[in-house]
Amino acid sequence: MGGEKVDLSERQEKIIEIVKENGPITGEKIATRLNLTRATLRPDLAILTMAGFLDARPRVGYFYTGKTGSELLTEKIKKYKIKDFYSVPVVVEENASVYDAISTMFLEDIGTLFVVDQHSCLTGVLSRKDLLRASIGNQNLNTLPVHIIMTRMPNITVCRMDDLLICAAQNLIDKQIDGLPVVQDTENGLEVIGRVTKTTITRVFVELVTNDDI
Ligand code: ADP
Repeated sequence: MGGEKVDLSERQEKIIEIVKENGPITGEKIATRLNLTRATLRPDLAILTMAGFLDARPRVGYFYTGKTGSELLTEKIKKYKIKDFYSVPVVVEENASVYDAISTMFLEDIGTLFVVDQHSCLTGVLSRKDLLRASIGNQNLNTLPVHIIMTRMPNITVCRMDDLLICAAQNLIDKQIDGLPVVQDTENGLEVIGRVTKTTITRVFVELVTNDDI
């Protein structure tokens, strides 16, 4: 099966083999088999335990969890929450002109703008194509307010800080959209406090391979 490769050192691979065949086994015994001291082995055992390959039980020892690299990767991704990866939102007011919205999109270098009321609560979304469509006609873009052309509430897909990132990704695919506002519930409505876009998901995808910390 593909996707099961994780960068383990030769020694770590050996430890897994020993535990697979002899587990539960104490750290001391693993060390003896490898002709190493328990202290030398400690960092490797810590890594293997943290990565989920091995489990440790006090007074019993280490045993093999039986999980493959891809199973562990899936488990890890399913723990990612919006709050760990969201970006700051870029918003415009409902009465901002389409011209202003286009300028903001260029200045902020983003593809989706959220439209908010005076309480910073979500009223709409503007995509690149929404603005292109409005620009094709002969209308004066300086006097055309964005609330006329935006996709409006309640037809907006949102997410919240505690939602799973993978659910947001699924929504982006299902709804065929580029971004979601991250909101929090207030008495005035849904306050916009972040954004998650296809770029967010792409960044996480790349970091999964290049950065061991996430
Ligand atoms: P584009 O229109 O530039 O391809 P999108 O695919 O993101 O960009 O947007 C498609 C349509 O969906 C647009 O009309 C946009 O207003 C709307 N839209 C964008 N994001 C959302 C969202 N989170 N919820 C509902 N509608 C959205």
